[in-house]
Amino acid sequence: MNPLLIIDAGHGGKDPGGGSNHFWKEKEMNLAISLYQFNRYKELKIPVMLTRNSDITLTPEARTAIVRNSGATFCHSNHINAGAGDGAEIIHSIFGGKEMADRIGSEIKDSGQNVRRIFTRTLPTNSNLDYYFMNRNTGNVTTAIVEYGFADSNKDDIHQLKNNWKNYAEAVVKGFCLFIGNDYILPSPNSISRETNQMKILQLPASAASWRVYPLGKHPTKGNDVGFLRPAKFNGLDYRILKNPSPYVYTIKTRDFGTVNIYAHPKYGVKFR
Ligand SMILES: [Zn+2]
Repeated sequence: MNPLLIIDAGHGGKDPGGGSNHFWKEKEMNLAISLYQFNRYKELKIPVMLTRNSDITLTPEARTAIVRNSGATFCHSNHINAGAGDGAEIIHSIFGGKEMADRIGSEIKDSGQNVRRIFTRTLPTNSNLDYYFMNRNTGNVTTAIVEYGFADSNKDDIHQLKNNWKNYAEAVVKGFCLFIGNDYILPSPNSISRETNQMKILQLPASAASWRVYPLGKHPTKGNDVGFLRPAKFNGLDYRILKNPSPYVYTIKTRDFGTVNIYAHPKYGVKFR
């Protein structure tokens, strides 16, 4: 089966990338983000591949050929920026990809990283060509270059990227799921991605009058419930996720019922952050 998405870990091998500082090399941060996302998409059953999964050198020609020949519809090229700005940037082609870029940008913003700009750029010598080779030479694969922040920021990017890069990597996964209309679920309890994931709050929507809660260890189906939460009464309710024992089932601590499980599918308006 062709992948739907190909993830490009920018730079690698002899090319460390300009978005480096004394905490990280850009090529290593790009690879860590890409491997994290690769595992997450597999968990979400979205067909995915990588341009590289180790520290190898890829010329722009080799890299874009892998993308063009992948059979994928979409590509994300992961990078860390340099140039003393602050915040994420997403670059899409002059020929399209704005919707995907906007989705990703909005989730990155929700995850706590400011988005500096979402843009396209043309070659100064030819306004019919994209400036960046990942946009220009990836054929009909819709490519977004994602710059997660600045390695040489004077503001908070260095601290943010060092501590929260997985949150931003996860935000892109979420944005892409929403963009393609795939169900988004948090990393499962035993996934590689789960341990350090920090998106741990679920919000029950104010539109729900009641929400069943279940004792731990019992199947979360009608009849097993021990009571109701009242999201509407409180204009929505937020809970820290303690566990995610099975898909869409979350363990939370409630005031009235103690520690319980709830069934919280996004189709019922549940939000995660
Ligand atoms: Zn780069």
